[in-house]
Amino acid sequence: MKKLLLLFCFYGSIGALNAQTLTAEEQKIVLQTEKNFPQMMELLKASVNINSGTFNIQGVKQVGELYAAELRKLGFSIEWVGLPDSLKRAGHLVAYRKGKKGKKLFLIGHLDTVFEPDMPANPFTQLSDTTITGQGINDMKGGDVIIIAAMKALHELNLLNDATVTIYMTGDEENAGEPREVSRGDFITRAKAHDIALGFEGANGLNSIATARRGSSGWQLEVEGKQGHSSGVFTGAGYGSIYEASRIINTFRETLGKEKYLSFNPGLFMGGSEIDVNLEAQKGSASGKTNIISPKTVVIGDLRFLSEEQKNNARKTMQQITAQSLPGTKARIRFEDGIPAMAPTSGNEALAEELSKTNLALGFGKVTPGNPGSRGAGDISYIAAYLDCLDGFGASGKGAHAPGEVLNVKEFPKLMKRAAVFIYRLTR
Ligand SMILES: [Zn+2]
Repeated sequence: MKKLLLLFCFYGSIGALNAQTLTAEEQKIVLQTEKNFPQMMELLKASVNINSGTFNIQGVKQVGELYAAELRKLGFSIEWVGLPDSLKRAGHLVAYRKGKKGKKLFLIGHLDTVFEPDMPANPFTQLSDTTITGQGINDMKGGDVIIIAAMKALHELNLLNDATVTIYMTGDEENAGEPREVSRGDFITRAKAHDIALGFEGANGLNSIATARRGSSGWQLEVEGKQGHSSGVFTGAGYGSIYEASRIINTFRETLGKEKYLSFNPGLFMGGSEIDVNLEAQKGSASGKTNIISPKTVVIGDLRFLSEEQKNNARKTMQQITAQSLPGTKARIRFEDGIPAMAPTSGNEALAEELSKTNLALGFGKVTPGNPGSRGAGDISYIAAYLDCLDGFGASGKGAHAPGEVLNVKEFPKLMKRAAVFIYRLTR
């Protein structure tokens, strides 16, 4: 028995050792990626210097055409997914090739940035040995170019011939068109035909990957009270809507405020004798008198969560708290879905372990799952319920969504090599 166990350990460790060194083929991938690096920097520069704010439809399409031209040369079939005019969005770039070997991969990028043409220009500029600035360089044209660099190296070594890879670059990630069923319908349908999704949003260095992202949603609380003279507030006239709304909101915090990865924030709280709230614009006006018990209060807030289960449980508790009305009041709460969560499934975690082996083999150290609280929701969240997912394969840097956004150019080639070797391993 002991011998058997020893034998098992021996083979187990040999297996692990092999996974943590590069094969001859993988070494060729690394060299090919290095060889292509200057060309990929040119592609990055060209794409960063095209303004592609979400609402600059021509610009988004132009970036799409630039990347499509590269991907066509690498044996990909190209489609442009248009959207109805009412959405006022450019549409999405899809590039795919189909085969029979290995896992079917769905690689996610986006063509748009938060910078519209009327904002100050920030062209591609090398600031130092380690940093380059430019609009969308980190979020996420750097990630888009990493996808193309990985595909180029693999294609040139004839390693994509029998692989199934779909590259989906949305044109409105920073501000998705409504309704979402329309702007993300094709994205979700295509993703479902794959085994694994990899998101190329900004990397948090070489040693962290996102196995989870929180989802976001909203709620509206409406409370009614009996209007009356303030002197009777504790003696039978009823507590009024402001006391009741305060009780509800504070009890939410006391009951659920310590739950890990759950957060909810009342963003607007308006009560009095007369209120006029525009829920869509998230603003309004109110009037009231100190001697009148308030008849009407409205509160709106968000709710962020790590799994559908956590979201549903929180909603149930919030319903129960809302229903325990103080005398003379009644309240109701409505919930609104937003972006789903990417939950930290065992499948995602197993994939992160595989990535860690690839990273070690490349000499870049271990990879561990990052803190899900540190990322907002993203495109990958729409499909996380259907396949194993990792996000954060893109460029490292800082300042996403701010004018001085930078890319770390020292880590950039390493992230390309990692993507190429990991994709190679998954598609065997
Ligand atoms: Zn992004």
